[in-house]
Amino acid sequence: SIALSIKQLVKTYDNGFQALKGVDLDVKEGDFFALLGPNGAGKSTTIGVICSLVTKSAGKVSVFGYDIDTQFAEAKKQIGIVPQEFNFSQFETVRTIVVNQAGYYGLKKSIAVERTEKYLKQLGLWDKRDTPARMLSGGMKRRLMIARALIHEPRLLILDEPTAGVDIELRRSMWDFLREINAKGTTIILTTHYLEEAESLCRNVAIIDRGQIVENTSVKALLKTL
Ligand code: ADP
Ligand code: ADP
Repeated sequence: SIALSIKQLVKTYDNGFQALKGVDLDVKEGDFFALLGPNGAGKSTTIGVICSLVTKSAGKVSVFGYDIDTQFAEAKKQIGIVPQEFNFSQFETVRTIVVNQAGYYGLKKSIAVERTEKYLKQLGLWDKRDTPARMLSGGMKRRLMIARALIHEPRLLILDEPTAGVDIELRRSMWDFLREINAKGTTIILTTHYLEEAESLCRNVAIIDRGQIVENTSVKALLKTL
């Protein structure tokens, strides 16, 4: 089945700038997909629309068949989002931030506690569970956002530039973690401006430039053209 379908997506910001000029994109269930493009190409805008953080000007977006406008609640349950900026309270503890996210999805407390432990352990943050977020390193904060995004066990995980500013060693361990959850069936879409990241992680790739998809192919095929 199709995890994500985007049809003729247009976004014009309030200042009149057209950031997306009719984007079409399909991502299949189980895929590990890269949206690759230079800074300013429209990657974050696309992600913002999918998560309903940015209102689109035109077009249709559905997630596992759920329309993000007319079936918002169902669509939202399918998605876990790891934004670029840290958007959690710096004063709450690691554990609280993840457990509270579960409340946002209406999960039972016992399940929330169990999954929080599972994901914090998997991401190497269990020792930091009672630490306020402001005390964490940048890489730890990024892993915290991944744990938080997984709490409702979404079928689609979307990461916006997940390893920007992350050192090489941590980048590799984050890559391994993402490969593992993809192997267990989670569809993953990440945005990146590093070809290397798309190359080592992803199966399929779309290249976006100035608000338009200019290439949509397998990573293997893309590398042959370079
Ligand atoms: P990317 O994630 O690929 O770096 P973005 O989606 O963040 O690109 O931005 C695409 C374009 O839209 C850029 O030219 C950016 O300056 C512009 N843009 C982003 N947000 C706004 C906004 N709120 N108002 C006006 N222009 C914006
Ligand atoms: P509020 O409920 O206060 O309006 P938001 O809807 O912006 O807040 O979301 C609350 C938190 O949940 C934010 O940190 C946001 O980034 C995160 N969030 C929003 N939508 C999703 C989603 N589909 N998956 C994971 N996290 C999300």
